[in-house]
Amino acid sequence: MDFSLTPEERQIRDTVRAFIEKEVMPLEPEVLRNEREGRPGLDPDVLRDLRAKARKSGFWGINTPEEYGGAALGPIMSAIIAMELGRTFVPFSFGGTADNILYAGTEEQKQRYLIPTIEGERRSCFAITEPGAGSDARNIRTKAVRDGSEWVISGEKTFITGGNEADFVMVFAVAEEHGVTCFLVDRDMGWKSEPIPTMGQWGPASLVFEDVRVPEENILGELGKGFELAMQWIGQGRYMIPARAIGSAERMLQMAIDYAKIRKSMGQTISNYQAIQWMIADSQVEIEAAKWLTLYAAWRVGEGMDARHASSIAKLNGAVMANQVVDRVLQIHGGMGYTKELPIERWYRELRLLRIFEGTDEIQRRTIARNLIKGHAKLGLIGE
Ligand SMILES: Cc1cc2nc3c(=O)[nH]c(=O)nc-3n(C[C@H](O)[C@H](O)[C@H](O)COP(=O)(O)OP(=O)(O)OC[C@H]3O[C@@H](n4cnc5c(N)ncnc54)[C@H](O)[C@@H]3O)c2cc1C
Repeated sequence: MDFSLTPEERQIRDTVRAFIEKEVMPLEPEVLRNEREGRPGLDPDVLRDLRAKARKSGFWGINTPEEYGGAALGPIMSAIIAMELGRTFVPFSFGGTADNILYAGTEEQKQRYLIPTIEGERRSCFAITEPGAGSDARNIRTKAVRDGSEWVISGEKTFITGGNEADFVMVFAVAEEHGVTCFLVDRDMGWKSEPIPTMGQWGPASLVFEDVRVPEENILGELGKGFELAMQWIGQGRYMIPARAIGSAERMLQMAIDYAKIRKSMGQTISNYQAIQWMIADSQVEIEAAKWLTLYAAWRVGEGMDARHASSIAKLNGAVMANQVVDRVLQIHGGMGYTKELPIERWYRELRLLRIFEGTDEIQRRTIARNLIKGHAKLGLIGE
C-alpha cells in the first residue's frame, strides 16, 4: 500500500497551492466586503479573469476528458485540488468543467449544451428537488405530457443551485407512463426562477414551469431513464464535497492554533490549557480521517469500482467533521469568532449546508446501513 503522491502529482498540488495563495487568497478581504454589502463575493469579471489566468497555468478542465480539451487528471487529483481550493472561502473554482451527465447527450446536444458549458459560455443547473420531494426524490410530481413532437412540462422545483443565473436546466419530470425523464430546457423556452434567501451567502432558486414546451430532441439520455441519470449526477462527485471541506477545516484549524498561541487568559496563552489542546487534537484527528476516507472513495471512482458506499461514508463523515471543526475553531476564538471581522462565522454558515444537500446525513446513514443489512457492502475488507 503506497500513500505517496508521484512527483508529478506533488508538483500539481504545489502549483495549485501557490496559485491559490498568490492569486486567490489576496481577494479574501474584498469578498468579505462585497458580501457584507449584499453583492456577490467575486465580481463575475474578476472570476473570469482569474479563470483565464489559471487556464494559462494549465488549470482548466481538471477532470474533463482530453478530447474536450481538459486535463483529465482523474478523481484523486481532483479531490486533492478541491482540498487546495477549500483553503480559501473565495468562491472560486477552475473553469472548463461541465455536469457529468451532459456527456450522455447526443452529438447535437453536446454542441449546444456540453461544449458551451465547458467553455464557460453557458451556465447549467440541475433540478430534481421539489417542494414535496427532497430526500424522497422518487416522488417528484413535475410532469411532462407529450403533444406531437413536443413535451409540455409543468411543475415547480426548489433549492436549485445556480437556478437564478443558469440559462438552461437539466430538469427531471415524470413523462407519462415512461416515468422520470431528464429534459434540457433553455430559459427562453419559458421557465421562471426566483432566488431563495438562505443562511449561506448565495441562495439557490425556485423554478416554475407552466406549460413549457420542449422539443423531443431535448430529452437527455433515454425516455424513462432520468432517475438513473440524476443518481449519476449526484453520485459521481460526492467525494468532492468532503474534499473541499477538508481544505477549509485545515485552514481554520491553523487559524485556531495561531490564535491560541497569542491569546492570553488568566496569565497564560490559551494554548496552554488542555481544554483548548483537546479541541485542536480532536480536530486534526477528524480531518485526517476525513482525508483518507475521501481519497479512498476517489480512488474507487478512478479504478472504475462501485464507489457508492465509500462515497456515502466519505460525504457523511466529511460533512460532520467540517461542522465540528468550524464550531471548535469559533469556540477557540471566543467572541472574536462570532464577529464578522473574521471569516469563521461565514464558513460556519456555509459548511452547515454540507449536512443537507446531495443527500442529508440521515440519507447517507440510511444508505450505509441498508447496504450492510442487505449485504451489498461487507465489513472487514481493505482495498477490495
Ligand atoms: C443551498 C441548497 C442547494 C441545493 N441545490 C440543489 C440543486 O442544485 N438541485 C436539486 O435538485 N436540489 C438541490 N438542493 C436540495 C437538497 O438536495 C435537498 O434539500 C435535500 O435533498 C433534502 O431534501 P428536503 O430539503 O426536502 O428535506 P426532507 O427530505 O424533507 O428532509 C427533512 C428531514 O427529514 C430527514 N429524512 C427524510 N427522509 C428520511 C428518511 N427516509 N429517513 C430518515 N430521515 C429522513 C432528512 O434527513 C431531514 O433531516 C439544495 C438544497 C439547498 C439547501
